Amino acid sequence: MKDSYQKLLKGNRDFVRETIAREPDYFKKLAEGQNPEVLWIGCSDSRVPANQITHTRPGDVFVHRNVANLCIHSDMNMLSVLDYAVNVLKIKHIIVAGHYGCGGILAAMGSKQFGIIDNWLRHIKDVYRLYANELDAITDENARANRLVELNVKEQVFNLCKTTIVQNAWKDRADLEVHGWVIDISTGHVIDLGFTYRNTDNLDSVFTFKV
Ligand SMILES: [Zn+2]
Repeated sequence: MKDSYQKLLKGNRDFVRETIAREPDYFKKLAEGQNPEVLWIGCSDSRVPANQITHTRPGDVFVHRNVANLCIHSDMNMLSVLDYAVNVLKIKHIIVAGHYGCGGILAAMGSKQFGIIDNWLRHIKDVYRLYANELDAITDENARANRLVELNVKEQVFNLCKTTIVQNAWKDRADLEVHGWVIDISTGHVIDLGFTYRNTDNLDSVFTFKV
């Protein structure tokens, strides 16, 4: 336990020393402010850190993470991050980044209790219910879980598009896009699921706000 803790402090000292050796003004510039163009909504899983996966640096990506990268309508944490990112930072791309092998997705597919988190994972069971015909037809459990990872990203992208925050931004500006990605941890590669939204055209009218 102590080793892993001390390792972090040593890691920080190494990071600062090596960075300054390379770029003496690095932290001075970083302290001046942030101007990221991307909001990353990813899973809390320790294997999918936004900056390393995308080879970006501190300052490039505004990040929100929770178990299974969910975008829940009433989650004030997610909504606050989204509102600040869209309306104050004026970010241009929102990426929902799921990943294969997601423990949250696997847990939601089963019936074992894990604790409080089961109530959070209920949102994934709701996604399963929407696609039950397709998912139940996949006999290989791993393939079924992978597909649910993809469908969950798709639904979370829709959830973002359904917010007043994103819809109001779309009325004012044409440069905000919402994307869905899956990270294949076994290769390191990102798969762009190919649905990028720039307007409400793909939403049912019940989810589209007028003025
Ligand atoms: Zn996960």
